[in-house]
Amino acid sequence: MSVDTFTIPVQRVEKSRISEVDFDNLQFGKTFSDHMFVVDYKDGVWQDPQVLPYGNMSLSPATSSLHYGQALFEGMKAYKDANGDLLLFRPLANLKRLNSSAERLCMPELPEELFMQGLEQLLRLDAAWVPSKAGSSLYIRPLMFATDDFIGVRPSLTYRFLIIAGPVGKYYDVPVKVAVEPNYVRSAEGGAGYAKAAGNYAAALLPTRKMQEKGYDQLIWTDAKEHKYVEESGTMNVMFVIDDVLITPSLSTSILHGVTRDSVLQVAKDLGYKVEERKVAVEEVIEAHKAGKLQEAFGTGTAAIISQIALIHYNGQDYELPPVEGRKVSNQVAIELDKIRTGQAPDKHNWVYKVSL
Ligand SMILES: *Cc1c(COP(=O)(O)O)cnc(C)c1O
Repeated sequence: MSVDTFTIPVQRVEKSRISEVDFDNLQFGKTFSDHMFVVDYKDGVWQDPQVLPYGNMSLSPATSSLHYGQALFEGMKAYKDANGDLLLFRPLANLKRLNSSAERLCMPELPEELFMQGLEQLLRLDAAWVPSKAGSSLYIRPLMFATDDFIGVRPSLTYRFLIIAGPVGKYYDVPVKVAVEPNYVRSAEGGAGYAKAAGNYAAALLPTRKMQEKGYDQLIWTDAKEHKYVEESGTMNVMFVIDDVLITPSLSTSILHGVTRDSVLQVAKDLGYKVEERKVAVEEVIEAHKAGKLQEAFGTGTAAIISQIALIHYNGQDYELPPVEGRKVSNQVAIELDKIRTGQAPDKHNWVYKVSL
């Protein structure tokens, strides 16, 4: 164990809210644990890290992130294993992405010690909030935003970084109907699509709602130039199994670099499957379906891990996929990944991080 290079002051809640929570009926994103980690950036340094009771903040109406969108977030999970240990899955991969998002949005990077110590301090304090039921976890939401009270257009000089967390139940994983988006784009090459920028989500809401009004759950984003190549599915990376090969669009500046994407590809390789990262044309997927070779399609992301696709809509046609039960690659990878995450399978890639309680 390393010695703390700094200690983070803690202000505890007077009374925990945990007894008010119905852990059997958790709605994603609605319940938050007792505390939050807060640290502010000022005069070129991160200062005054604290763990405080979860609660409201007071902001100036001129807070620059509200106007110009210097805001980013992350998403990760903590699990409890059979021994009651608290496990994180690849937290440093999330930090790395947080810092690459920060760089793209002209925001300061966060040092590893600050991130990990803030996170661990919060988790130690709110350990009781990590559910132990299979499939449940504590969803962790780091976020950073610009705090200058100034509406001139320039990078803010001050920022706030926070970590909030809340228990989530097993993801309600009904296979989704997706439609290929022919007009709108989520992001373009050279844009900020690879960053977890708050604004990317805002711009995706309208196209998503329009597609949902047509009866589909999510859309498949295509490239900004030609609407010819697959990018992502909703807020998840997307993968296909064609002729026993796991295929996914290669990473670019327009695609979010998903930690789950990377983990699924690695586990699939470990299990002996052939994996290809390359451009995937929508036509290729449709042609494979017509030839009876499209065996699986699914999204990957921290919230659902794997979200099965039941149907793909393209050019006025619905293409139904084979039943989920028979999907060998995604089902096997999902089980293996779950075992690694919860400490039931060997952690060959050093992905599991045990929080010292
Ligand atoms: C967060 C996110 C993902 C998934 O990333 P994970 O690290 O696997 O959770 C995929 N696409 C978009 C647009 C995202 O914001």
